[in-house]
Amino acid sequence: MYRTHTCGELRLSDAGKKVTLAGWVQRSRKMGGMTFIDLRDRYGITQLVFNEEVDAPLCEEANRLGREYVIQVKGNVMERSNKNKNIPTGEIEIIVSELTLLNASEVPPFTIEDNTDGGDDLRMKYRYLDLRRPSVRKNLELRHQMTMEVRRYLDAQGFLEVETPMLIGSTPEGARDFVVPSRMNPGQFYALPQSPQTLKELLMVAGFDRYFQIVKCFRDEDLRADRQPEFTQIDCEMSFVEQDDIINMFEGMAKHLFKTMRGVELTGPFLRMTWQDAMKFYGSDKPDMRFGMRFVELMDVLKGFGFSVFDNAAYIGGICAEGAAHYTRKQLDQLTDFVKRPQIGAKGLVYARVEADGTVKSSVDKFYTQEVLQKMKEAFGAKPGDLILILSGDDAMKTRKQLCELRLEMGAQLGLRDKNKFALLWVVDFPMFEWSEEEGRLMAMHHPFTHPKKEDIGMLDTNPAAVRADAYDMVCNGIEVGGGSIRINDPQLQAKMFEILGFTKERAQEQFGFLINAFNYGAPPHGGLAYGLDRWVSIFAGLDSIRDCIAFPKNNSGRDVMLDAPGTIEQKQLDELNLVIDIKEKK
Ligand code: ASP
Repeated sequence: MYRTHTCGELRLSDAGKKVTLAGWVQRSRKMGGMTFIDLRDRYGITQLVFNEEVDAPLCEEANRLGREYVIQVKGNVMERSNKNKNIPTGEIEIIVSELTLLNASEVPPFTIEDNTDGGDDLRMKYRYLDLRRPSVRKNLELRHQMTMEVRRYLDAQGFLEVETPMLIGSTPEGARDFVVPSRMNPGQFYALPQSPQTLKELLMVAGFDRYFQIVKCFRDEDLRADRQPEFTQIDCEMSFVEQDDIINMFEGMAKHLFKTMRGVELTGPFLRMTWQDAMKFYGSDKPDMRFGMRFVELMDVLKGFGFSVFDNAAYIGGICAEGAAHYTRKQLDQLTDFVKRPQIGAKGLVYARVEADGTVKSSVDKFYTQEVLQKMKEAFGAKPGDLILILSGDDAMKTRKQLCELRLEMGAQLGLRDKNKFALLWVVDFPMFEWSEEEGRLMAMHHPFTHPKKEDIGMLDTNPAAVRADAYDMVCNGIEVGGGSIRINDPQLQAKMFEILGFTKERAQEQFGFLINAFNYGAPPHGGLAYGLDRWVSIFAGLDSIRDCIAFPKNNSGRDVMLDAPGTIEQKQLDELNLVIDIKEKK
């Protein structure tokens, strides 16, 4: 038997027991004739004691152990005189009588501690050592607990977990596919699923009624902090449902997760906001509702007074930062630089402070009378001590997005984006389509299987851009944690949708024939949603990046630096796959 107990298990009540432990040497200290070793495993740390006076050869052996050596010890549990209140095993120590070296270790390239000296790349290269650090391990434990709770909740609600294939056909709608060449079918490729969307719909046609899967999805997109080329979804679908049924079911799941994972009891229905309002008041389809600073439009208030920037603008709007009138000139200049950064692209920033006596002092005082500025103050409901920040531009949507960045920045600067506070909402009534400059055509905003709102179906022919969808996203603290829709189950409507998206009948049949045909065999009304598991875990763990809750993540260039993947393959493999590599120089 390698061990009788783990390194996190023994307490004062175990004093006197003879035990066997196994684990890694975290650290070793020599004090006079005594050697102390912290022995670590996944469960914790236990102090080992070797006494030179009692057993000199054993103590010498212990002194030769280096960091991260794997050892087994036998000994007696004793009460510690010098207790460590910070760890659960801190009241005891093991007086070691036998030591077995199970495996030696080279000196690790960084310290295996929460405050490690290892940089990102080094830690990723030696991820198996990084994963020994308690803070990283805890994220994966949390992830495990979360998937257990997800399964518990969905199982209790009658959902069946069904696996769908990883090698499927390529679908050009949506993001870019990762493709896999087929040896047995020369010149042909599988694609890795961007999501099991069509397959879960087929499961509804098959009568499965309530499906879920905790599933890997693959999208060949440029990476950001909350994106990985492969990520995990909690993918769900239900039959005989309307939007409210789905929202209730998955709001219930979110509440269950908050309660079990964080001990937070969320009561009452979550806020619901239309996409239209989200864009109008927050400039984003995923507003961070932990704080206010709702946009106020100022076209009526500030246009027509000779300030050409505003007079020529298609949109003028602002936010009111409560109690921020103390911002210095330097801070305001920094905010101006912030909005002028190329990634944001605003031309400038206008600001106004509400003074203690209620008067308004602005950066554009020479164009506006106090009377107009007071009207502006009233539009915000601003009080003495508040700071008003205004942006304008010739494209309303673009300017709102810039204002959104400014709002988020002010929220952060004023400490309003607390990681321990949670603001959840549903954004509903997304537009059915969005215009793609790149493709020069309408694209489905969610996906082509999304059902248009019943009352908008009449506009599909006349004004498709105005059609809204039965599509919804759940947003937590400004992060999209999930989204879904009610689906089309009428083959005629589905055909119409493909037509609007610019598919010929033949192409639609070629690519989605399997689904369209299935709808001819009694498809129930259905809908669903997918939650992003990685994003949920990172919110619960308070992480800035989803990478830290993934065991073996990719870096920003999509590389696994530990496996050194992607890599080239041998000529023999290329030949078998009938592939010729011809790398064109990028222009
Ligand atoms: N398949 C969708 C997605 O991956 C989610 C859904 O509509 O259920 O975004």
